Amino acid sequence: MPSLSLDTSIQYIKGVGPNLASLFRKKDIYSLEDALYFLPRTYEDRQNFKPIKDLTPGQRETSFGVIKRLAFVPLRSGRSKIFELVIADKSGWIVAKWFHYNAKYMMTKFKPDMSVVFSGEVKLFKYQKEMTHPDIEIIEDTQKESLHFGRIVPVYSETEGLFQKTIRRIVKNVLDQSLAIVQDPLPEDIRKRQTLWDLKKSFSEIHFPSHADALPSLFSGQHPARRRLVFDEFFFLELGLLLKRSHVTKEKTQSFLPSQTLKSSLLASLPFELTQSQKTALLEIAHDLEKPHPMNRLLQGDVGSGKTLVALLSALSVIEQGHQVAFMVPTEILDEQHAKTFQTHLSPLGISLGLLKSDMKKNEKEIEQRLLLKKKGGSPHMLVMTATPIPRTLALTVYGDLDVSVMTELPAGRKPVKTKVLRESQRLKLYEFMTKEFLKGRQAYVVYPLIEESEKVDLKDATQMAEHLKKIFKDFRVELLHGRMTSEEKNKIMLEFKKGHIQVLVSTTVIEVGIDIPNSTIMMVEHAERFGLSQLHQLRGRVGRGSENSFCFLMAHYTSSSEAQERLKAMEEFQSGFKIAEVDLKIRGPGEFLGTRQSGLPGFRVANLMTDQPWLMQARKEAELIIERDPYLSSPENLPLKEALKSRWQNKINLMSAG
Ligand code: ADP
Ligand code: MG
Repeated sequence: MPSLSLDTSIQYIKGVGPNLASLFRKKDIYSLEDALYFLPRTYEDRQNFKPIKDLTPGQRETSFGVIKRLAFVPLRSGRSKIFELVIADKSGWIVAKWFHYNAKYMMTKFKPDMSVVFSGEVKLFKYQKEMTHPDIEIIEDTQKESLHFGRIVPVYSETEGLFQKTIRRIVKNVLDQSLAIVQDPLPEDIRKRQTLWDLKKSFSEIHFPSHADALPSLFSGQHPARRRLVFDEFFFLELGLLLKRSHVTKEKTQSFLPSQTLKSSLLASLPFELTQSQKTALLEIAHDLEKPHPMNRLLQGDVGSGKTLVALLSALSVIEQGHQVAFMVPTEILDEQHAKTFQTHLSPLGISLGLLKSDMKKNEKEIEQRLLLKKKGGSPHMLVMTATPIPRTLALTVYGDLDVSVMTELPAGRKPVKTKVLRESQRLKLYEFMTKEFLKGRQAYVVYPLIEESEKVDLKDATQMAEHLKKIFKDFRVELLHGRMTSEEKNKIMLEFKKGHIQVLVSTTVIEVGIDIPNSTIMMVEHAERFGLSQLHQLRGRVGRGSENSFCFLMAHYTSSSEAQERLKAMEEFQSGFKIAEVDLKIRGPGEFLGTRQSGLPGFRVANLMTDQPWLMQARKEAELIIERDPYLSSPENLPLKEALKSRWQNKINLMSAG
């Protein structure tokens, strides 16, 4: 047998042969470490059983008794039989019932006079206490089976062929054989300061708690053993992100002084004042650019808060010193729009601009040569913008390697967008309302969902809708815009819409991000129940950009799920993207909410991003202290930390390359 490490296959554990090993694999348990982290799904107090007579109907209870009788009882319909066990102790009896079961298995497993521990919800049926489909375990010898009896017992999630007692026994063996090689990577001063348990003790106690009074804290998730494991996960996540950041911020690159002439000419040409939020963000960015290390900053701001302008103004200091700026945008319509915006702002300053698209023809792409950013001065300064505000604690987990600027203000004079969820029966009324607005010179977007699997059907819907609306709004111009059009076609329509020659733009969600046409005051979303919250918020952000009142109408169908209804309600209730993000997070949970960026990070086996946030902040602080003192984790005393970090992050990020 090889000497054990935590990566060793579970097959090397006493009692685990190839069969069991393959069952454990079904639970994603391959190594000893996986087994240590396979935490109980709940616990049962098997020390002081309530007498059966005291079990309370309506509650989940655990008790202990002897099997008195087994029976297959026909249901009244006569088609199938219930399997019943009558279990008794000195105080009384209770019936355990199974509606779905394997008869042969039940007959071989249970015999009269066996002692069993059982738990489940107690019910009353014709004045008699019963439990349906209880968790039940045979106790052969209450003295010998100390693992399963007379203590707080862990209950694991099972899989076909792999049952409680086996899992419990094997986990115990894993602990016995591997705890000795578990190394605690956390420096002692952190453990002391944070009053954290030692790692070995934490593993041991989270599986087999040794004290009866541990139960409440185990159930609430606050048990010190769990806290230690959660802290570890957060700490190594933050340490990795900070280490990554310190590598980047120590890299050498060109520094840039704030722009003098260009910036003031551009500011002078603007018909408005910058918001305080914009000014603050500009200062933070300027400060980064003055350093000879790459900027790595996230600019968060609600839809319409003026992020684009902040980016543009910041770019001027780079341009003024003869360097280049690349501005990357997610959609095609948007790149044309931004190019135009930039052109408007930049040509008067004598700055030239090229546009590079993925679908350009070869000769058009020649500009690519000229645009190729010369990477002579080192890594570029990077500013990432997002209109999906992320609560601060979560931002630390996914964007913990970036500095963050948050713009909370919207430009003055913006009015809230009146938002209403409408039913099909209200459609005609809405058309009347829209007609009135068009007569006042306003414009509208009508958006259709486009879901990949049914792209053709949806496109047909959108096309039909456009035809339908052409008949409804005979006196106005209605046009369709969708992702299958060539960029030339799209641009032509966008341009005419911008000029006000088109009143209704029916489109699939290609208009989602960034489009900025202040005269458009109505956003009508078809099948709003199919859109996610941040998408709806983005769409709504397309209106309310001018001085006129704006409206967002969400057409919803009665079949919509309760989640969809929560989303729509949130849209009616809240305007702020930060508030919307909070609701979104609550509905979807952090995993989905954070999306792709999270997938590049180590996952959590114990921590819960929602409920454990206070611990995240503490872990972040401790990680910061370490990185401040030792930015590359290069001192010998931090070697164990570095090793632990490597194994947590695996190859997800090449953290160590520079250190
Ligand atoms: P974001 O990118 O944050 O969604 P934009 O940069 O598209 O927002 O800005 C929306 C609109 O507001 C643009 O027309 C922009 O010119 C304008 N704008 C930007 N800053 C201000 C400001 N301080 N005051 C008034 N309007 C502004
Ligand atoms: Mg924008």
